[in-house]
Amino acid sequence: MRSQKIILCILSMSGICALAQRIASQTPAQSQRIVIAASAVLDGKGQVLRDTRIVVEGSKIVAIDPKAGPVDYDLRGLTVLPGWIDAHVHITWRFGKDGKNAGMEGTTQEVAYEAASNAWVTLMAGFTTVQSVGAPNDIPLRDAIAKGILPGPRILTAVEPLIGRGEQTGTPDEIRAFLRKQKEAGANLIKIFASQSIRLGGGMTLSQEQLNAACDEAKKQGLRTLVHAYKDAVRAATLAGCTEIEHGLGASDDDLKLMAEKGTYFDPQDGLLIETFLRNKDRYLGTPFFNEETFAGLEKALPLHHELMRRAVKIPGLKIVFGTDAVAGAHGRNAEEFIHRVRDGVTSMAAMVSALRLAISFCS
Ligand SMILES: [Zn+2]
Repeated sequence: MRSQKIILCILSMSGICALAQRIASQTPAQSQRIVIAASAVLDGKGQVLRDTRIVVEGSKIVAIDPKAGPVDYDLRGLTVLPGWIDAHVHITWRFGKDGKNAGMEGTTQEVAYEAASNAWVTLMAGFTTVQSVGAPNDIPLRDAIAKGILPGPRILTAVEPLIGRGEQTGTPDEIRAFLRKQKEAGANLIKIFASQSIRLGGGMTLSQEQLNAACDEAKKQGLRTLVHAYKDAVRAATLAGCTEIEHGLGASDDDLKLMAEKGTYFDPQDGLLIETFLRNKDRYLGTPFFNEETFAGLEKALPLHHELMRRAVKIPGLKIVFGTDAVAGAHGRNAEEFIHRVRDGVTSMAAMVSALRLAISFCS
């Protein structure tokens, strides 16, 4: 069980990993003390500890002590770091039996197995917490993992998103009621679509008043808000006090500075998402929302995402969090997004912290 224990120790460092707690709770040696020797340990906050030892008891790290012993696991020559957090995935999104994009819905056994496989490959890729935003069928997967029935990352889900449709979305009171319904259904956070697709111009689909109601009600319910926003919606969502803005194409430097000022988290997917679509074009083409025009738009959008990341990284104090928007074809490859970000000017340590300490401050 050496490998299981190593996983336990590595995951425990995040202090939030359900899997580690579960393994510990199922192991008779719950309070067993484990000492890991490592040449380099990332503390998740931006520091590297050299030639030290990690002392774990049960599911908790109780000490970092270079003199601790005896050593149970000698990981010298390796770098040890906490489990990563991906703030934006679609964990149930999969390819179907015919190999084509099958989206994220469905309740057959095949769908359930695919979702379980997505969770497994995501965990094995080093991600111990993901926010899935959102599909109602995230819930049974989240709960199965939490109960220890399946191995996977801790899942936080938005259940059903609030999709902006102008006035048809509803009055502020109706929007508030919709959010309360998501909380009752078991949502851990709220996903809001405040912009139309960038291909259609990226215009706002919720008014300032509607966004204010949504993000205010979520706060009252103790839930965070993750907002799909382009162009003007970026500023509007920031002013509405929403927690995190996704994508953000068309945001000006002034919008980004306002986000930094207000403490709004920013998650501009840099390259993995679009490259996943392009790499799997034959599997996406002809499925809902994906035609030749879509792919032409994606090719054009890729350099714009890189340009946005290069600008965002220069805004002092902007909290850039790690989220990949992982869909079918990207599960288990989440960490490739780090490479894109570092190429676009994020330091490698800032990239690590964006999926560790910064993501914990956002997720908890
Ligand atoms: Zn998404």
